[in-house]
Amino acid sequence: MIRKITEEELLAQQAYVRAFRHLPGRPETYHIVTYGCQMNAHDSEKLAGMLEAMGMTAAPTREEADFVLHNTCCIRDNAERKALGNVTWLKEIKKIRPSLLIGVCGCMVQEKGMAEKILNQYPFIDLAFGTGNQYKLPELLYRAAEKRERVVAVEEEQSTLAEGLPIRRESPWQAYVTIMYGCNNFCTYCIVPYVRGRERSREPGDILREVEQLVRDGTKEIMLLGQNVNSYGRELAGGWTFAKLLREAAKTGIPRIRFMTSHPKDLTDELIETIAQTPSVQRHFHLPAQSGSDRILKAMNRHYTAEKYLDRAEALRAAVPDIGLTTDLIVGFPGETEADFEDTLALVEKVDYDSAFTFIYSPRVGTPAASLPDQIPPEVSAERIDRLIKAQEQHTEKRLNALIGTRQEVLVTDFSRRDETMMTGKCGRNISINFRGTKADIGRILPVRVVSAGRTTLRGEKEIQEASHE
Ligand code: SF4
Repeated sequence: MIRKITEEELLAQQAYVRAFRHLPGRPETYHIVTYGCQMNAHDSEKLAGMLEAMGMTAAPTREEADFVLHNTCCIRDNAERKALGNVTWLKEIKKIRPSLLIGVCGCMVQEKGMAEKILNQYPFIDLAFGTGNQYKLPELLYRAAEKRERVVAVEEEQSTLAEGLPIRRESPWQAYVTIMYGCNNFCTYCIVPYVRGRERSREPGDILREVEQLVRDGTKEIMLLGQNVNSYGRELAGGWTFAKLLREAAKTGIPRIRFMTSHPKDLTDELIETIAQTPSVQRHFHLPAQSGSDRILKAMNRHYTAEKYLDRAEALRAAVPDIGLTTDLIVGFPGETEADFEDTLALVEKVDYDSAFTFIYSPRVGTPAASLPDQIPPEVSAERIDRLIKAQEQHTEKRLNALIGTRQEVLVTDFSRRDETMMTGKCGRNISINFRGTKADIGRILPVRVVSAGRTTLRGEKEIQEASHE
């Protein structure tokens, strides 16, 4: 049963916020280290919002902070090892500065057995909490800071939805908006359903009010977030679908809408039509394929075949010819033969992606795939991923070159990292474009003519006439 956090529960947290502000010797500064996906990045914005409401200010580095919080990811083994390595490094700082408070939260803490591991093997961690009780940060940190005692809080049942938390957004122009939490799909390699719980869709009214406020604040682009946005609304009354939510979000007047991530099995014709008919929905679709082999897709529990996937990709291209498709691909899934891998290469050839995130399969304890026979030797996986990357690079080069001479609308977000006279931003296809400009361009949507293509980015020239909807 999904349960929305009650007004009383929020008021209780607000009481801790006020009490913390007056707590003698409390931490004054914080630093959050974020690992993993956009969902985690947005969770960190909420955690920062709560910490600032508690009267703390952001420290630029871990070394300068009174409270360091690691918002962890556990999707791959190396993400977990990196987080634990970085937390352990802080132990040395704590020896010099014992008042330092060290916190760990996010998906890794939610893993089975991790709370005990933290209690027994990481005695220098002061505060650990899972994804289900992030909204209790004011209370948990108050307890850790007041008595200087260790606080570990992990709720097994993840059925709550917290609305009304303060958010400290990283960018004034772009904003993450979570539309749903959790996942019901249980892909056999994936730990997300175990650490993020079952699907919980936010009420459309809450989402749309958040988007309307962002429009009033001058935000130019929103990214609607969920593990599988295509199944948005299934458990809600009123016939809500993701397509309907997109149409309603577009009515708020937000100039650009993106979303992440979509499961191919739930990509409906209604959604494709909505994208085609809604200009503010950007021309980029991330459609994770994971494999091109039907045998491996079945073992992954993905519920589609390569043919079905291609059908969805072609339907998208037919309805929205200028759409850029990107994907996620895993190599070295248990039992993957050379022929299976060649099916993945064939899929890459057929779909002609703009780009692809490629991964070597990483077994996660507790998932069905981790105990499958025929785990692939690392050297075989390494050789395959190398070939896959090379194959995709050719498509990326071809697709970027095809954009030379076109006019793209770019949301300018920063100076180019390599050249301070150049500005950078992304076009609707989600490809970075650099062009000569000034600081005054930041936060604007500008028309840019593409003049050349690099390996992964484009170079352009600003056009005189500016976008009308700015
Ligand atoms: S759809 Fe599959 S890969 Fe994506 S979060 Fe759910 S279980 Fe994991």
